[in-house]
Amino acid sequence: MKNRKKKELLMSEVRVRFAPSPTGYLHIGGLRTALFNYLYARHTGGKMLLRIEDTDRTRFVEGALENLLKALKWSGVEIDEGVMLDENGHVTEKGDCGPYIQSERVKAGIYDKYIDQLIEEGKAYYCFCSQERVDKVRDQMRADGLTPKYDGLCRSIPLEEAKQRVANGEEHTVRLKLPKDYDISFNDRIKGKITFNTDDQDDQVLIKRDGYPTYHFAVVVDDHLMGITHVVRGDEWISSTPKHVYLYEAFGWQAPEYIHLPTVLNKDHKKYSKRNGDGMVEDFIEEGYTPEGLINFLSLLGWSPDSEEEIFTMEELAKQFDFDRVNKTGAVFDKKKLDWVNGHYVRELSPEELAKDIKPYMIKAGLIDESYPEDKLVLLAETWQSAIDKFSDAPELAKNYYIKSDEIEYDDDAKEAISTENAKTLFAAFLNQLDQVDEIDADFAKSVMKTIQKETGIKGKDLWFPVRAAVTGSVHGPDLSNAFLIMGKDLVKDRLEYVRDNF
Ligand code: GLU
Repeated sequence: MKNRKKKELLMSEVRVRFAPSPTGYLHIGGLRTALFNYLYARHTGGKMLLRIEDTDRTRFVEGALENLLKALKWSGVEIDEGVMLDENGHVTEKGDCGPYIQSERVKAGIYDKYIDQLIEEGKAYYCFCSQERVDKVRDQMRADGLTPKYDGLCRSIPLEEAKQRVANGEEHTVRLKLPKDYDISFNDRIKGKITFNTDDQDDQVLIKRDGYPTYHFAVVVDDHLMGITHVVRGDEWISSTPKHVYLYEAFGWQAPEYIHLPTVLNKDHKKYSKRNGDGMVEDFIEEGYTPEGLINFLSLLGWSPDSEEEIFTMEELAKQFDFDRVNKTGAVFDKKKLDWVNGHYVRELSPEELAKDIKPYMIKAGLIDESYPEDKLVLLAETWQSAIDKFSDAPELAKNYYIKSDEIEYDDDAKEAISTENAKTLFAAFLNQLDQVDEIDADFAKSVMKTIQKETGIKGKDLWFPVRAAVTGSVHGPDLSNAFLIMGKDLVKDRLEYVRDNF
């Protein structure tokens, strides 16, 4: 009695899963799928599972699982059950439906009785056709203008005979025996009712020559055994769904609800595919995006809130998110928008936090080294905070505070400003002021422009543009006194002498 109650409770709870095949790094489209699953789980008080689908051994990549879990953890998408990282960053599994890695499930023999059941009930059959023959049949169909599929040659082999051939060690696969001219329908939460006719479907391989189940077979058995209530995945899987729905029917199981998410498109409106090698989450981490920024941006890839608001924390998203506001059509990945959203989160950091975040980028660009004074880095962060959208922006924005004077590329406005007669007077006055101090301190940095103004009578743009241009390479930019402080006496002096002598 107690057990049944537990089971009923489990059935009423939303259980979603992210089910990646670890064939490399985590793609941004994969993270969007994981996120929408996660948000729905949080929204409904349900559970988020992670299952690894690695039955395609040819696509196995060493270390891919750790990378994927690390990227997911970084993003803030949390796993309640299944495969996850422990506190020490090691891969572990948690939950009552394990193992959660399909290759482990194969070893545990979990799929055996289900395939046997289908074979015994005449819903699947042994196929002894060689790969060569299957390819030939398909090629011929293609040449005849037909949809290529298996011609069903082995469907009529009597089961006893087939079993004997299997016992004799003959190489074989197991295929789904689809009934002829039969409509399979399912209701996609986003796209509505979708119907496929079995005449357009292949007798899908369920067990491969190597004895491993195919994705199609394993996904159904596992989703069922793991009590998955909603399958939320990219819409490239829609054409596979009738096979899955038919398998549920064949087993007499209740199919989960299907939610196929709109494709993530690149700016050319083509599928933003991982085969092109771009769009890996790791690359965004390396470029210095914040998890909050990337997640916020991804949440808007195919979903829109009930308001004009575009900035959301994970908690706010979980509160508002539902599939009702997920679009039917593709969602374009706009990097400019990502930068804008991420910039919002950069702005929220304290200068001390931002300093830590930009430090590795400044070091990598060769502008500073490990021993660079913390207070200067904090001042640099504060100075450029409003212009930094991602941490890797920092070196490009701030490089003129560090490089040699003859490496500065003065823009056209700067060149014009530093070539005026006024400029010569100003530089002389500034250099004179510098000669009177050992180092630029906060007082000097704040007051020097006023002192020069008084001394030369030059003010406004005529004062600011030449000095700013000489010292920073541009007539525009953030607080100039901060630049003086960060650069220090020697470098500011060098800049002024350089422009005095070269323009
Ligand atoms: N293993 C599939 C993938 O790599 C998951 C598809 C599904 O969610 O059913 O994307």
